[in-house]
Amino acid sequence: MAFSKNKSQVDDGLKSELAKKGIVITTLNELYNWGRRSSIWPMQFGLACCAIEMIATACARYDIARFGAELFRASPRQADLIIIAGTVTKKMTPQVVRLYNQMAEPKYCITMGACSISGGPFIDGYNTLRGIDRFIPVDVHLPGCPPRPEALLYGLQTLQKKIDSQDFRKAPWYQKGLKREYAIPDLGPKGLIPKFNPEVWQPREEDHRKEKYGSPMVIGKKTKAPDLDAPPKQPKAPAPKPPKRSDDSAPPSKEA
Ligand code: SF4
Repeated sequence: MAFSKNKSQVDDGLKSELAKKGIVITTLNELYNWGRRSSIWPMQFGLACCAIEMIATACARYDIARFGAELFRASPRQADLIIIAGTVTKKMTPQVVRLYNQMAEPKYCITMGACSISGGPFIDGYNTLRGIDRFIPVDVHLPGCPPRPEALLYGLQTLQKKIDSQDFRKAPWYQKGLKREYAIPDLGPKGLIPKFNPEVWQPREEDHRKEKYGSPMVIGKKTKAPDLDAPPKQPKAPAPKPPKRSDDSAPPSKEA
């Protein structure tokens, strides 16, 4: 996640001199971003085991309230952060995209755990999505299986830095013609349709695994996936029976 920090036009020395006299000066941008980053409301939403760590982050020991993000909202209309905590199955993907679409702007997304980033331990599963960033834009990727609560707090702080770097005069959600509703895929008999959202993610043209690892890695026995687009096979016609022999051509019996 690349971003550059907003720089104040006011001299830091002058600021501290005035602060000693009880005068605080700031910019509207800083004030606006301070308010937003200090009151992030995450959505009350979890998908698998990573959600348990997310719940632990909200409990007394880790206390996400210290960062102003303890108000887990039950409605996407009131949330501005979606934490994708857990394995995203293809069956759940339409619901996740729909929830993201229903959130009000400005909205942010953290993918928590290897599953939501790439499919994680279930990457070869027929039913697992290989990363939610194929369908919605992600602000912070949080690796681990599962990431500990400290990691989630670090991810939240990283998101706060990103919010701090934004300029409300150039913020995309105030621009005309903003399109932040993404296509909701359909789960058909052949998987998700469309398979990805081209505005958010494009498949790589080349596979660099061979260059990186010398040869493609093969783990366990690989079986060929069935070609679902192939036309159905026709049942084979029964083989013709051999013609019956006539009595003349029958071999003589042993008794004769
Ligand atoms: S990344 Fe690990 S802990 Fe998190 S949902 Fe996947 S399997 Fe569970």
